[in-house]
Amino acid sequence: EVVDPEDLIKMRPLGHGSSGKVYLVQHKATEKLYALKVIQVKHEPSVSKQILTEVDILRRANSPYVVRCYGSGDKGGQISFVLEYMDRGSLANVLEKHKALGEPYLAEVARQVLNGLHYLHINKIVHRDIKPSNLLLNHKQEVKIADFGVSTILASTMAPCTSFVGTCAYMSPERFDPDSHGGIYSGYAADIWSLGLTLLECATGHCPFLSQGEKADWPKLMVAICYSDPPSAPADSSPEFKDFISKCLQKDPALRPRACSLLSHPFITKDNGSSVDLSVLLQSMSL
Ligand code: ADP
Ligand code: MG
Repeated sequence: EVVDPEDLIKMRPLGHGSSGKVYLVQHKATEKLYALKVIQVKHEPSVSKQILTEVDILRRANSPYVVRCYGSGDKGGQISFVLEYMDRGSLANVLEKHKALGEPYLAEVARQVLNGLHYLHINKIVHRDIKPSNLLLNHKQEVKIADFGVSTILASTMAPCTSFVGTCAYMSPERFDPDSHGGIYSGYAADIWSLGLTLLECATGHCPFLSQGEKADWPKLMVAICYSDPPSAPADSSPEFKDFISKCLQKDPALRPRACSLLSHPFITKDNGSSVDLSVLLQSMSL
């Protein structure tokens, strides 16, 4: 299934983020709904072309735990991506409504995201931008990773300080260390750190490194992430959640477990079989 951005009609905006705007769109012929992400690029055409070539490779990623990309286009200094429409928005939207999520929900979200990370990692793709607004949900209670690869490709063509403004709160300590880049553990393990931080934010209602409502301040965050003890689960959490979080948020990336081994962690497996119903969380989320 390949969709040309030219064959779509814009319905309404779905949201906007650091890299661009996202619209709900409908395919003229099939009437199917998609999300169209539009990114303004200030690059020369050759760079945009390179971005699109790399996106083509990433488009082959095909997992039920990863938001599908059906096509892309480049027109008038804008790169657009045709994405699977996730009709219940992001985990960040869910958090705005529900403030904090109970552990059974966290475990189910973690299970699905770990499956997505496992898929990306075995395909040698590092996400680099796992955070609540990049985890999307739909009415089928599916949680999928969005923006994979796109962020990696764009980041490689931008200065790190500008591309990560506002999102470096989820970056692992080793990502601030120029010497650790390209290390065998740094990439995959950085995604595990970001997942731990994301789940902790879902448990408490606020990002562990930011106080309520505080705007991300790069130098301050970097100092907190690199020089303070890693954040831990709230005191009244279950021992399983505490252990899961402490394993993800180890400062030494080499000690953090891989996605596949976290899938058999007791926090994930303890409600084995009786799959958790996310519909309660999604009911009020109309998009
Ligand atoms: P960011 O991830 O920095 O918030 P994005 O541009 O990736 O910025 O996305 C902005 C918002 O658009 C997201 O928070 C989400 O609510 C919405 N969005 C992005 N992709 C999709 C999609 N495929 N389906 C539905 N909504 C989406
Ligand atoms: Mg995003």
